[in-house]
Amino acid sequence: MSTLQFYNALGRKKQAFEPLEAGRVRIYSCGPTVYSHQHIGNMRAYVFADVLKRTLRAFGFEVRHVINVTDVGHLTDDADAGADKMELAAQRSGESVWEIADRFTRIFKDDLAKLHVEPPDVWARATDHIAEQIEMIQRLEARGATYAISDGIYFDTSTAPHYGELLQNVDLEAQQAQDRIEQAQAKRNPADFALWKLSPSDGPRRQMEWPSPWGRGFPGWHIECSAMAEKHLGVPFDIHTGGVDHIPVHHTNEIVQTELATGVRPCVRFWMHNGWLMMDGEKISKSKGNTIVLDDLEAKQVDPLVLRYFLLNTHYRQQTSFTSDALEGARAAYARLRRHAVEVAAEAAAEAGQGGESRGAAVVGELSERFRSALADDLNTPQALAVLWEVVRSRELGSREKQQLLREFDAVLALGLADAQPEVQESDARIDALMAERQQARAQRDFARADEIRDQLRAEGIEIEDGPEGPRWRRA
Ligand code: AMP
Ligand code: ZN
Repeated sequence: MSTLQFYNALGRKKQAFEPLEAGRVRIYSCGPTVYSHQHIGNMRAYVFADVLKRTLRAFGFEVRHVINVTDVGHLTDDADAGADKMELAAQRSGESVWEIADRFTRIFKDDLAKLHVEPPDVWARATDHIAEQIEMIQRLEARGATYAISDGIYFDTSTAPHYGELLQNVDLEAQQAQDRIEQAQAKRNPADFALWKLSPSDGPRRQMEWPSPWGRGFPGWHIECSAMAEKHLGVPFDIHTGGVDHIPVHHTNEIVQTELATGVRPCVRFWMHNGWLMMDGEKISKSKGNTIVLDDLEAKQVDPLVLRYFLLNTHYRQQTSFTSDALEGARAAYARLRRHAVEVAAEAAAEAGQGGESRGAAVVGELSERFRSALADDLNTPQALAVLWEVVRSRELGSREKQQLLREFDAVLALGLADAQPEVQESDARIDALMAERQQARAQRDFARADEIRDQLRAEGIEIEDGPEGPRWRRA
């Protein structure tokens, strides 16, 4: 029986995982800043968290999962300078900040559903937790860890003896050198960070701001996660996830705030981070503008689950590149896998009721155990997929045994393989023409028209599904 081992950034090694509370695991995942579409690099962070959660369940744990939605306070610059990303997007688009936040939160949730990422138990929106954030800053203030300068209230990192635990010395030095260049002049230490930013008295008025004991303003990005995690999970909790880019600043700051405010150390047992998804040698990033979103893939008739398959085919910690070759490879492999799964389901259905002895009980047990030990080894999904391929190709296993294993594996991989059905397409000239028009609109990135057609069909009771052979429709 395998025991779970996860790589923990706190200590920088794989460690055996046991939850704080028997049988229950509490996880917090840093969520999106909702000023634009989440790109496929962002999606990697949530597919990883989803596999983690499903794996824990497969190992018998109950999971409580929180993902936050950052709709205020994330600045264009990590050193507390620059504009609020949300306010900037509102100025550019003419929509209100609230409209932008709502729209991109909705799109984000739709995208997660298409990727079979389960919704968390709690969606925690930063603007719904202003009181909790102010209260946490007050606790830090009472402990003498804060100071005020002209543009806000800052955390004094020299009061936190453990500052920088997630960092290697080199990271810390590079970080501080960078901060020295960019820092607000009046900060006491280069690494100090804003807890509460005061609304500027001149310049355009912010759409999102709140009264506080320090004056009107808005919370810093890091305090959001500390306050929401404490509220919805309690401190300490088991696992905190995010992309590697969060290690040097966001998570480093979350740790010192939470530990000082609560007096609990460590505030989180395991810090787990996904590696970057790259494109053309660069990290996919909203600020660099080299983004691909799920809609772009769907416009090319790529089933979102092909992206899930592609992501699972690399270990979550490893940096990987999204290229058209890799995408085509994943598309072909996933289509083969689906065909196998459809065959298995059809054969198993034909065999049902025939009784008969199981041909490969020992093989079933062995494959199941190898699948589980791959996942137990720091979520080695490429290895787990290799075992899945062995199952569908096996000559020893009967269809019903294959089906049993596919169901078990798909509870974690969520690739739509359990009980896959052959797709039968009804035909209707008018609907087919609308479908074609929608594809064309998407190819031209006219997503508004594409959505309009989908909504029109939906109103008629027709659902569109993006399958491995492209989009199809069916009557709901
Ligand atoms: P953001 O909306 O920028 O706060 O990012 C949301 C999540 O996506 C965070 O956990 C980031 O670390 C992660 N992320 C952003 N870009 C990438 C990328 N190119 N590859 C993998 N993860 C990313
Ligand atoms: Zn966070």
